[in-house]
Amino acid sequence: LKDPSLLKAVRSSLEDDRLNIEAAWFDATEKYALQMEALEDEYFRARAADIRDVGRRVLRILMGIADPSINDIEHPSIVIARDLTPSDTAGMNKSFVLAFCTAEGGPTSHTAILSKALGIPAVVGIGDRVLDTHNGDQLLVDGEKGEIFINPDPATLQRHKEYSELYLEQAKQNLQDALGIASTLDGHDVEVVANIGSVEDAILALENGAEGVGLLRTEFLYLNRNTAPNELEQLSIYDRILDTMEDRPVVVRTLDVGGDKDLVYIDLGKEDNPFLGWRAIRMCLDEPDIFKTQLRALLRASPGHDLRIMFPMISTLDEVRRSKAIVDEARRELLDENYEIAEDIQTGIMVEVPSVVVLADRFAAEVDFFSIGTNDLTQYTMAAERTNERVAHLGDACHPAILRQIDRVINAAHEQGIWVGLCGELAGDPDAIPILLGLGLDEFSMSPYSIPRAKSIIRKWSMAKASTLAEKALALDSGFDVHKLIRGSTPG
Ligand code: PEP
Ligand code: MG
Repeated sequence: LKDPSLLKAVRSSLEDDRLNIEAAWFDATEKYALQMEALEDEYFRARAADIRDVGRRVLRILMGIADPSINDIEHPSIVIARDLTPSDTAGMNKSFVLAFCTAEGGPTSHTAILSKALGIPAVVGIGDRVLDTHNGDQLLVDGEKGEIFINPDPATLQRHKEYSELYLEQAKQNLQDALGIASTLDGHDVEVVANIGSVEDAILALENGAEGVGLLRTEFLYLNRNTAPNELEQLSIYDRILDTMEDRPVVVRTLDVGGDKDLVYIDLGKEDNPFLGWRAIRMCLDEPDIFKTQLRALLRASPGHDLRIMFPMISTLDEVRRSKAIVDEARRELLDENYEIAEDIQTGIMVEVPSVVVLADRFAAEVDFFSIGTNDLTQYTMAAERTNERVAHLGDACHPAILRQIDRVINAAHEQGIWVGLCGELAGDPDAIPILLGLGLDEFSMSPYSIPRAKSIIRKWSMAKASTLAEKALALDSGFDVHKLIRGSTPG
């Protein structure tokens, strides 16, 4: 939109040719797109679509036509897209979006994570063929297996219908049992808590048997708006979430933007590798006003609750110390302003960068808890971006390279007497749960809808048998072997 030659062309049509603005704009963008399309270079040719997209969006605004978006879907539908942004998913209306499928993207992208939180089945990164579907085609989406069928034959349809009935029956049973504690057969209790992003999620979490919140992704308060939420706005949301959770533990993660989460009002710059760039705590430490506003709101919401503060994407001890110093500064300021603040607020970190795993003993001495973020830990260990479907086969968090890191982190933490949770998608993965149990994980944090099934799995195992299973998994060569091991094991 700032391109000088485009703007010059529009101006000259307006002034010299006396066209109206809509016509001038349309002509200029279309001419520009056609020029792009005529270029040799494939990359530049493909940019013609971007120019037309921007062109159409501006034209719509000029003509006062509302932007057709996923929010405008008025009939129960399956959404097919090349890719979706986390804000697209966040805005989906659950009563109409039955499922969605994307050609691109990975299973631990925030788009996919949000769909899970909404209980919307999704299959992502399935390839371009899905884009050949047409309005009115019959589609069958199996979110469990990650398969879709376009105009399925009657036998396939029947098979999935039966499976779906069985699945729903089991889910109903699990939900009935979800409110109780998850204890293993030999009487070891583990905490099963929720990953949430809103007040609605907090309510859903309790309905599904969450014993607290292991990860509040606060960035979702910052998405889908034009300015950053101020202290009072944030305070009112944190208050409502904490009031919903009463005295249960609530781990609030400070702002984690960058990577695949963009904000319109913070210039995150154009980076070649946003997941390796100015993301999360790196951005917050450079923008202390944004960071402190959030911390002040959190501290003000703390009285009477078990609020815990967690920093994302920590990679050095210095970042932990600086973050804690800003919490202390915010606390001092608020006390001077006569606000009440809870006494013992735990502070912890996400363990999602391999440097923290390597120095886990040193980090354990500086914090009250760890929460392992396997979504990022896997992408950073395997050097395979979590949103890129072409390297999705490298993103299996059941790989022994990840399991051994989890083992190391749990041991380092327990030696120093701090607790360890896990809030990556792995925590709700039925294959991983017995292994994580056997490794001694204290807290499993997952999307609310995954909790009933996770509790039912935990109750089928003894710690003794789960530890033997975990030992075996650590000694294997691949994620494939780990899945094979667990699928061939009987609980007990
Ligand atoms: C993770 O990385 O595993 C995690 C829980 O954080 P996020 O998915 O929000 O990056
Ligand atoms: Mg993460």
